[in-house]
Amino acid sequence: MEFKEFGLADGIMEAIEYMGFEKATEIQELAIPLIMQEKDVLGCAQTGTGKTAAFILPVLHQMMKDPKPGIRTLIIVPTRELAKQIEQQIQGFSYFVSIDSQSVYGGGSSEWEVQKKALTGGVEMIVATPGKFIAHLNMGYVNLDTVEHLILDEADRMLDMGFVDDIMSIIAHLPKKRQTLLFSATMPDKIRKLAAAIMHDPQEITLALSKPAEGVLQGAFLVHNHQKIPLIIHLIKDKPDYSSIIVFTSTKTIVSELVRSLKLSGFVAEGMSSDFEQERREEVMQKFKARKIRVLVATDVISRGIDIKDINLIINFDVPKHAEDYVHRVGRTARAETTGVALTLVNEKDMPAFENIERLIERKVLKMALPIFLGEGPEWKGRERSGKRPGRNRPKWGKRPPKRDGNRK
Ligand code: AMP
Repeated sequence: MEFKEFGLADGIMEAIEYMGFEKATEIQELAIPLIMQEKDVLGCAQTGTGKTAAFILPVLHQMMKDPKPGIRTLIIVPTRELAKQIEQQIQGFSYFVSIDSQSVYGGGSSEWEVQKKALTGGVEMIVATPGKFIAHLNMGYVNLDTVEHLILDEADRMLDMGFVDDIMSIIAHLPKKRQTLLFSATMPDKIRKLAAAIMHDPQEITLALSKPAEGVLQGAFLVHNHQKIPLIIHLIKDKPDYSSIIVFTSTKTIVSELVRSLKLSGFVAEGMSSDFEQERREEVMQKFKARKIRVLVATDVISRGIDIKDINLIINFDVPKHAEDYVHRVGRTARAETTGVALTLVNEKDMPAFENIERLIERKVLKMALPIFLGEGPEWKGRERSGKRPGRNRPKWGKRPPKRDGNRK
């Protein structure tokens, strides 16, 4: 579907053209008309589907149609990175229209003042993380009576991060008559309950749930822990095609250890986790986007919602605890119909969790052979034992040869 068919305001169409978007994505095609009709929308869509534009464009359109003062749109998101990214998109889409936006997250005293000024001085669109927004709200100077659109993005993530009380207390300050849009990568019961509590007759849109984009080549290595770092070095050494790589890990301590090992092996690598100061996180992200860092080692801080283009290789240093996080991590590659590779290192302990992922994505991930110099990895111990150990040492007849007696070396 072409964007011009939606009937969006001229200034918005100009920005869409400027950004080079030609056709609407599926979520845009489904959500934009409903949001323009002022319906509440409950959207189940993964990142990379174009969902940010799916809610920003029609909301901007409504705001332009009927200009009014005050904070009119409030977007609540789980992480600073996502807030920043959404604000950048808003700035792009509103380039030709007179609507101001401000992100509200983290930062020191000078940022606090900037945020306070925006919250009290006529900025119409706010993108905020719950904690920081509540901090301003508690100071008593934020007037939310003018809010017409509430958007919760990555709602499942916010609930996982324990933000439900914060969200409910923000909503308590909002007018009852408003449009509420809730986007979530997954739709567990707790999201449905939240939706039932805060939305009015929501129209539901579900895109194919929790499956990595078709263009991603997925593979897994069955490894012992000590084999992981040498394997990663082997995988990326002398492979110039992998020019932009993210290694995800669940553990903050691994971030520093892995970055150190990669640097010692001559790679340009940097780490990012919630332990790092915001300023440092932004600097690393900027450099990574500018291709000045080849390997970014990160915890799940950046796996959701973050839009970095043209990552050609994702490595999961470990299997994420929640199967949906796998989809988010892998979703960093092969965005917008490109191709990418996602490899997961699976130790014996993580095998059941990896099987859960395979069930979620409804696909068996290819188990790949370890390079010979690393020795043997563990055998596949999934509940479905079809795959067993992949690789070079496996005899063609599928069983180990009978043990010879005595002094076999
Ligand atoms: P999102 O799922 O919102 O994170 O968007 C993923 C990426 O797709 C962003 O870089 C958007 O700028 C881009 N995008 C969104 N909609 C379109 C579209 N209709 N055509 C091309 N790119 C798009």
